[in-house]
Amino acid sequence: MEKILYFDYCAVILMFAMLFALIYRRLAYGTGNKTFVAVIICMILTTFFDIGMETLPRLKPISDNRLFWAHFFSYGYFLLRNASNLFYIVFILVIIKPVLKLNKYLRVPLVYAPYIIIAAVILSNLFTGKVFTITATEGYSRGPVLNAIYVLSLCYSLIGAGYLMTSYRYIERDRWIILLLQYPLTFISILIQFLHPEWLVEMISMGISLLLVLVLVVKPEDTMDPKIGILNYKSFLDEMHKYSHSKDSVSIVLIRLTNSYQVRSYLGEKKFKSYITRIARQIDSRFAYYGQKRNIYFDQSGCFFITVGSDSFDIEGAVSKEIETFKAQMQDLSEFGLRFEEKICTLRFPKDIPDVNSLLHFAAVFPEIMSPGVIYRPASELVTTKDFKIRNSMNKILDRAIKNRQLEMYYQPIYSIKEKSFVSAEALIRLKDPEFGFVPPGLFIPAAEQGSFIFPIGDFILQDVFRFVSENNFKDLGLKYIEVNLSVSQCIQRNFSRKIFSLQKSFNIRPSEINFEITESAYDNSSDIMAENIRKISEAGFSISLDDYGTGYSNMQRILDIPLSIVKIDKSLVDTINTKKGRTVIKNTISMMHDIDMHLVVEGIETENVLNTLDGMGADYIQGFYFSKPLPEKEFLEFLKKNNRKPASD
Ligand code: C2E
Ligand code: MG
Ligand code: MG
Repeated sequence: MEKILYFDYCAVILMFAMLFALIYRRLAYGTGNKTFVAVIICMILTTFFDIGMETLPRLKPISDNRLFWAHFFSYGYFLLRNASNLFYIVFILVIIKPVLKLNKYLRVPLVYAPYIIIAAVILSNLFTGKVFTITATEGYSRGPVLNAIYVLSLCYSLIGAGYLMTSYRYIERDRWIILLLQYPLTFISILIQFLHPEWLVEMISMGISLLLVLVLVVKPEDTMDPKIGILNYKSFLDEMHKYSHSKDSVSIVLIRLTNSYQVRSYLGEKKFKSYITRIARQIDSRFAYYGQKRNIYFDQSGCFFITVGSDSFDIEGAVSKEIETFKAQMQDLSEFGLRFEEKICTLRFPKDIPDVNSLLHFAAVFPEIMSPGVIYRPASELVTTKDFKIRNSMNKILDRAIKNRQLEMYYQPIYSIKEKSFVSAEALIRLKDPEFGFVPPGLFIPAAEQGSFIFPIGDFILQDVFRFVSENNFKDLGLKYIEVNLSVSQCIQRNFSRKIFSLQKSFNIRPSEINFEITESAYDNSSDIMAENIRKISEAGFSISLDDYGTGYSNMQRILDIPLSIVKIDKSLVDTINTKKGRTVIKNTISMMHDIDMHLVVEGIETENVLNTLDGMGADYIQGFYFSKPLPEKEFLEFLKKNNRKPASD
């Protein structure tokens, strides 16, 4: 019977095209993708052997030489066809491994044993001739054991399908269906071949189902960043979600490039990405040296996530040994006069950190928990620190702080050099948690801003400060105004200025008694609503100051656009006062601000020496621990009574 080989030819072309696409789009990295490439290569070889097996016995008369090749292709076909099955199962296992409930000792034999049995039966044909025979006169003919091979192959497929069935809850539905589709398609094609033996449709149907897998399961945009050829953040998340459902644990190395934003903007996108690719390849080869399976993921925020081997691998030992190599690799940007700064951490997931959200949170904050100058720490040492525990429980802390009223306003006096008395104070919020004690505002305010906690907190701040102002006679205390920090989320509320005006009315205070502090970075991502709110508040008589001057990129045009009366120089700039350059910058800043009619508050003054230097430079107001730390309301009033003898003039 004349076999139709065109289906096989098409299958070869299709599979070569897939292979080319995978390699060209740099998708042949990562264990899952590598296994998929192995499946395709194996299928291409199988198809070649299928073509050889079907063609050679046909070309009569069969010479001895041709008989040898006919045998060679037939054995090769059977062995390779089942090897494709094996690789496909391994591919499925790579995808679902973390959720597989089977232990290693059962998993390995279940995958490999059927193949070994099938291969043994096929090779036994060399001696028995019971699977198939090829003779010069008869050509190819089936033997009685051939059906046993088909049955074994079917069982093998059922094992793969079984693995998939048990994991349906953890894989996205469409991916799961496509992975499973392989099996009914193969079954149908074998059925067609059984009914019409001349139609060799098996390989083309495999090719089509692999194409679906390539497009819908190996989805390049989902797993890889094609520009850098490294697995992306989303595929890391998928992988971790699977681990969190399983009993397996995996070793992870986190390498965060803490200045990746700056390096990226300096180098440009293309060069930055080529560096990232190079670093990833170098890291990969270091772990290859330990003989461990590894996957490298890169998150655009500048973090490598590397999963290495199993949880029994001594990840801490390996990373401690490699730290100098990693450092050298990261910092190899010297040709541009630049260097990456990195912080490295190792952990076992989910042993050290129990769930995916906490893991992601940890990956974002671990550099801040590590002491400056330290490059590497295992997570087990970091997760026990108070700082991390606070950050990790922030929502709980904020929730109970608002419910149980654990917030309090403190006041830090501000000294006027000219008037030689304390003429104002900055209101600073304090949170005392029953479990964690004092939680710094530098930690909880940004966290509250990310959620919606900032609104009740912001309302509390305004109400409490307005109440304080309304209950005290500022003239007697020698005070002119209280400075209140505003956060971005507050300022971009549509009704914010109205809220301020109604509070002012209900507490019956004068607008001049309140000064609002905004930061330059807040204005950076400002919306029109924010500018509008600030303008209305300022027109109503409240004054505005710019906080943290010297920490951002100062844009004079923007500063001139805001209706400011005061600029507050940040402590970080003040701390440079002992250097010649620092002194010059501060001195010139003060005189420039005076030239445009703004007053200056200098923050973070701790010593008399610095105070005297600033006095000599013409600073207007001083705030710092030298005079007083932020004080609770009562103590602040006592402080004023003791230190402000003369009332301040209006
Ligand atoms: P900020 O507005 O720049 O506040 C000044 C910070 O410097 C305060 O820290 C203050 O305690 C500290 N400080 C003042 N003098 C010295 C000094 O001499 N030495 C040192 N080492 N520090 C000094 P605090 O209270 O921890 O607040 C940190 C940041 O949290 C504030 O920076 C502000 O951005 C935010 N924050 C604090 N309270 C509030 C608030 O009520 N609302 C909003 N939106 N943010 C607040
Ligand atoms: Mg402030
Ligand atoms: Mg400040």
